[in-house]
Amino acid sequence: MFKVEREQEIIEKVYPIDEMLGKLVHLTENQWGIYAFYHEPLERKFTKEQKIKYIQKAYQCGQEEAKLLKEQYPNKTIEEIIMENGFCLHTSDEPIGGEYVVLAQYTEPNEILIYSDCVKKAEVLIKENQLEQYLKNLQIKELLMAHELFHGIEYQKKKSIYTQTEKIELWRKPFSNKSKIVCLSEIGAMAFAKELLQIPFSPYVMDVLLMFCYQEEMASLLYEEILEATGIQGIEESGVL
Ligand SMILES: [Zn+2]
Repeated sequence: MFKVEREQEIIEKVYPIDEMLGKLVHLTENQWGIYAFYHEPLERKFTKEQKIKYIQKAYQCGQEEAKLLKEQYPNKTIEEIIMENGFCLHTSDEPIGGEYVVLAQYTEPNEILIYSDCVKKAEVLIKENQLEQYLKNLQIKELLMAHELFHGIEYQKKKSIYTQTEKIELWRKPFSNKSKIVCLSEIGAMAFAKELLQIPFSPYVMDVLLMFCYQEEMASLLYEEILEATGIQGIEESGVL
């Protein structure tokens, strides 16, 4: 699912969208991965070094799946690839609201749903703020479709794909309980979309851009959280950068 969580905390500060994007497009995949782990329920179980190993493997997994599809369908659009692989693509015009800003959704076994409300809003925002300088010719809808397609592929390959098979042992004997690391799926889906659509920056940038379409304060808070997760804020404040 491509969703952005609304934060409870309210802040006064709203950053201009071009300032935020200008910074976010330069973050590395490892930095985005650390941010992804912020929302991982098992986050405390891992050291930073372990997280980096997981991030790199999940990233590679997404990238390899995209390369496989590109080889298989060199001249097809993302929409055609979705159809060829047996998925049904739907779009909804319903306005988005509630606790989460859900932008797109995959439902097992083969439904992909894109909310066109957020796509339209994002396109207007990009135009009005001349954000093309950062985003080049990014197609938001294609990006959302690619992200959800990865979740569909994960379902089809759930017994073999890294993002589904990697597990952590939560309890030792006598009862073994292994759990999936949820954020690896998201890291894989972003890497997949990036590779498939040849996007020069991390699609995680969309978390802030799409949230900004609905709540500017929340997008700013998310931006601060990303900088905190990636260590950028701290570095700048201590004057090292
Ligand atoms: Zn997702």
